[in-house]
Formats: sequence, C-alpha cells, structure tokens
Amino acid sequence: MEMNDNLIEIGIAQIDITPDYPIRLNGYGSRSTESEGIVQNIWAKALAIGSDDDGPVVMVSVENCGLPDEFTEDVSDRVEHKTGITRENFVACFTHTHSAPCLTNSAAFIFGADITPQEQEKIDRYTRELSNWIETIVMEALTKRQPSRLAWNIGELGFAKNRRTEGGPVDHSLPVMQILNADGTLRAVWASYACHCTTLGGSDNHICGDWAGYAQEEIQKSHPDVTAFITIGCGADANPESRMRPMPEGKQEVFETRLAYAKEHGKALAIEVDHQLERDTTDITEVPKGVFERVNLPFDTLPTREEWEQKASQGGAIGYHAKKHLEMLEDGQVIKTDISYPIQAWIFGNELAIVFLASEVVVDFSHRLKREFDATRLWVGAYTNAFPGYIPSERVLAEGGYEGGGAMIYFGQPTRFAPGVEQLVIDTVHQVLPAEFLA
Ligand SMILES: [Zn+2]
Repeated sequence: MEMNDNLIEIGIAQIDITPDYPIRLNGYGSRSTESEGIVQNIWAKALAIGSDDDGPVVMVSVENCGLPDEFTEDVSDRVEHKTGITRENFVACFTHTHSAPCLTNSAAFIFGADITPQEQEKIDRYTRELSNWIETIVMEALTKRQPSRLAWNIGELGFAKNRRTEGGPVDHSLPVMQILNADGTLRAVWASYACHCTTLGGSDNHICGDWAGYAQEEIQKSHPDVTAFITIGCGADANPESRMRPMPEGKQEVFETRLAYAKEHGKALAIEVDHQLERDTTDITEVPKGVFERVNLPFDTLPTREEWEQKASQGGAIGYHAKKHLEMLEDGQVIKTDISYPIQAWIFGNELAIVFLASEVVVDFSHRLKREFDATRLWVGAYTNAFPGYIPSERVLAEGGYEGGGAMIYFGQPTRFAPGVEQLVIDTVHQVLPAEFLA
C-alpha cells in the first residue's frame, strides 16, 4: 500500500475490569460496606499512536475514581521495561466514576474510619489485577497498530453545572478526537468533558461507569466496532445538573431516578459526538511527542500538635484524619509539607497540544490556559496520572469550602495548599508547551 503522509500507525485495545467479587467502592465516605452488585461493567482502554520508528505514545483510560501517583508510575515502569516507551509518552486517565472499586492508597481516608484487613486485601488484589490488565491492553494496542488517520474538533455540551456557586463558571467544551481507518471509516472516538462523574450521588453501592460509562456505551451502540474513550477535563467544581433536580421519596426510587439521569447525560454526550462527526474537523498529521514535568505544590502551615489533638477530639472524618497524623508523629514520621504534582502534555507538531493535568482540577485552570494559549489548538485534560486531591485556583483556595481545602482530609493530606498553587501549575504548563502554542 502506498503510504500517505497523513497516515499514522494506531492501535486500540480494551478489557473488562469489573471485579467478580464484592469490594469497597471509592468516592463516597457514606458507604460503609462492600459493593452489592453490578449495574454496568467497567472498562480500561488503551490507545497507542505512532510506529516504533516514530516513537509511540500510549493513552490509557480507566473507569475508576482515581489512580494514585505510585500506581501510574509502577504501570508506566512496567510498560517501559517491556516496550521502551518512556514516562513522558505514557499517560493514564481516569473517568472519576464514584461507583468503581477502591485502589490501594487512593483517597485512603475517605471513609473516616479504618477498613477491615479482609476488605483491604480485596482492594490490594484488585489494584494488582488492574495493573496487570492495563499492561495487557497496552501491549495489545501496540500489536494491533495499523495505518489510521486522526482528526479533531470541539463541540459543546451543557449538563455540567458549577456545584459551588449558582451560575458559577463551567467549561462546556467537548473536544472530540476521531481515529479513522485508512479508508476514512470511523475506528474510535475520544471525547473529554469537564464534569464530575457523580450522577448516582452515592445513592447505592453498585459498580457503574456513571455518565462517562453510559456515554461510551451509547457511542459504541450507535457505531458498532467503534471504541469510545471518555476522559475528564477541569470539572472538579462541576456536577451533572441532574444532581440539583428534586428527587422522589425512597432509596430505591432515588437510585432509579439518578440511574436514568446518568443514562440521559451519557446519551446527550453521544449525540453531541455524532454532531461533531458531521461537522468540519481539523486533521492531525503528526505523531505526538510527550513531555512530562513535576512541580512541588506546598501545603499551608501544618497544624501544631495541640491543634491535631483538638481536631482528634472532634471525632468523625476530621477526628480520624487528626488521629492518624498524631499516630505518625508518635511514630517519629515527618508530616509531608508538599506534594509532587505531575503535568504532562502531548504535542502534535504545531497542530494540537493536549495538556494532562493530574487529579481534580477546578475550572479556572481550563479558562486561564485557554486565554494564555491558542484555544483553537489546545485540549485541557485533568483527572490523569495521580490523585492527591483537589487542585484549587487562587480564587477557589481563597473562597475555601470543599474544593478549596475541605476535601484534603479524605485524601490523607495534612492541610490545604498554600497560596500560589495556581501559578505554580500554570508556570509548569508554560514549561511543557512550546511557545508556538501561546495565544
Ligand atoms: Zn471529585
């Protein structure tokens, strides 16, 4: 076959990651028992772009609440050992569904209480299984590479709503990448939306992909043989608007209503993807180059021993968190004063830059990056690589509340971030993106 310059070697693979045993689910501290069943199966998917001569990159998307930094690093090491693909060319995204298994050390203090050794054993087992599954699909995606075409465009979708402030900022953009066969037929779709995957709201204890899972299912239903990847943007302060709708009486009624909304949001996303497939697209002709940097984000002044003791006496999640920190002090451990925050980007020549911000990033980052860089060639992703907590903008940090620092205890972080966290993140994005992408 005669090679056209625009053809890129691309491979896709996926695997069902639904555990066939009950396990504690991550995302809501109010759940106190192992899962009660499966509403929807969950998946991990891999997308490999580039030939061995190009130096391929791999994106993995996982239906899970949050992948810890050390988990992603470990998987990346294993992939590098087998394939030579280095850290900057491997990225792990997660959908932040709040109805998937806990992973070892992922939001470890979420329950505000110790879990049983038997429950922890299953979490450790699932974590090992997930790691193996990801390695398997990365290898399979690399094996299945074949000449393909890439194109993208940006749609718009309205169900994300600011959950801190009525009418507050949101990012309704829906970047959509199309992976096409050499003959132009659709092979896969990758779309990113900035919203929490929390339609079900902890109203039950079943495994489910929430709206992102239903969006994937809808796209794949209306396009047989197409693989759909959903990843998440800067939606840390956005919830699906259905969360604010009135709910019926009764636990089962609430669950069924919310499940119907999760399907509705998934369908809305699939419909907008279909519109994007009909609209003009921009071709991508270059295999991306990965860039990876870390920046230390310092915490605010740590509590004193007296303050820890005072908090410990409060009980509840705050008391548990303080008690754990007092135990660390008793053990002679040093309470950490910062986190190492990974920032990654894929640079498709001068055609497109995808920024992968780690963890739960509020919407201000997306709007600021789209002002400082050329928004027509920028895709801002979050919920990737690591899960240390919420990453607040300076505005959200000053406002406080859950995303501004209140949630830190559930992630086991000692306290909120110090002022300046926004600028540190933005400066690092400027380091990883070439100047030709500046606005
Ligand atoms: Zn969250």
